[in-house]
Amino acid sequence: MSIPPGSTIGIVGGGQLGRMLAMAAAQLGYKCHVFDPHERPPAADVAAGFTRADYDDRSALKAFGAKIDVATYEFENLPVEPLAVLGDKLHPGTRSLAVAQDRADEKSFIEGTGARVAQWRSVSSLDDVTAAVAELGVPVVLKTRRYGYDGKGQAWIRSSEEAGTAWDSIGHEPAVAEAGVKFDAEFSVIVARWADGRMTFWDSADNVHRQGILRTSTVPPRAVIAAQVDEARKAAAGIAEALGHVGVLTVEFFAAADGPVVNEIAPRVHNSGHWTIEGAFTSQFEQHIRAICNLPPGSTELAAPSVRMDNLIGDEVHEWQRLLADPHAHVHIYGKGEARPGRKMGHVTRLVTA
Ligand code: AMP
Repeated sequence: MSIPPGSTIGIVGGGQLGRMLAMAAAQLGYKCHVFDPHERPPAADVAAGFTRADYDDRSALKAFGAKIDVATYEFENLPVEPLAVLGDKLHPGTRSLAVAQDRADEKSFIEGTGARVAQWRSVSSLDDVTAAVAELGVPVVLKTRRYGYDGKGQAWIRSSEEAGTAWDSIGHEPAVAEAGVKFDAEFSVIVARWADGRMTFWDSADNVHRQGILRTSTVPPRAVIAAQVDEARKAAAGIAEALGHVGVLTVEFFAAADGPVVNEIAPRVHNSGHWTIEGAFTSQFEQHIRAICNLPPGSTELAAPSVRMDNLIGDEVHEWQRLLADPHAHVHIYGKGEARPGRKMGHVTRLVTA
């Protein structure tokens, strides 16, 4: 059964991903209702309805659930248990969320599907960290199990003497210690899965990060990545299937010399897929709406021979006049207010047709 246009889609989380989901949903004739604790989140500006409440406010979630026909979420650091009040209206379900929000559970889960991750240890004391460094060798990266994103909650250990400082810098939080992977490139596989198991994939983007933050995504990717896409898609499909995921799922990979290594998963649309808005026949946002409403899949083919997306981080958004002076640049500004350093404020996509 499909959820027909005219219905209301609830979006938990009101950031830029929610905003772009709401815009794609509107094109298909849906109304969106955003649920977020902030005063004026970016998605609320483009949605038909908005509930301002904490993510663990069960009565507010219940009232929200009564107003919507289907619900989704746009980020993973949400308390899982309260979302249960949304029942089977929620896609993807809480399992995808629970697995993705704890780095140790995530790694065990991924290994269980047969995909590869960097060698890792779960750590909860300085002794654990020292032991992990002794076993894994340096470099090692410590990542807090929960609430890390864009390189936050991470510290590198490049010699065993740095273990204490790194442990201090992540605030002695339960963490994973991960062996540094030698990689030639980073890429992502974005897959959309329907409840009946159908899946679609976009071309894998070649992702360049700086200080843990995505800077650019380019398709098609370089040959070192292209050679690993088939294997990476199989891994991503296995993860989506094992989660029973409905909607878009992103799997980030390192292209290592001996094949793809999963870095992490996001149970949602992803920054490395923003290029699909103009660069593919169907964007990740539209496809997510199609999947959760059980509409037919759209084509994910490229709309141009090559596409490049640049993020606008912090102050870079203030260059909007210069960016708009290029009549072929697709400029997206998220309406976020203060351009703090490291904050994702917008992005620019360019289709290369020559
Ligand atoms: P994450 O928040 O886990 O996506 O990490 C942010 C970025 O740090 C990644 O995109 C990589 O550039 C780098 N990084 C994270 N983990 C590792 C690792 N195990 N080996 C090498 N680089 C890493």
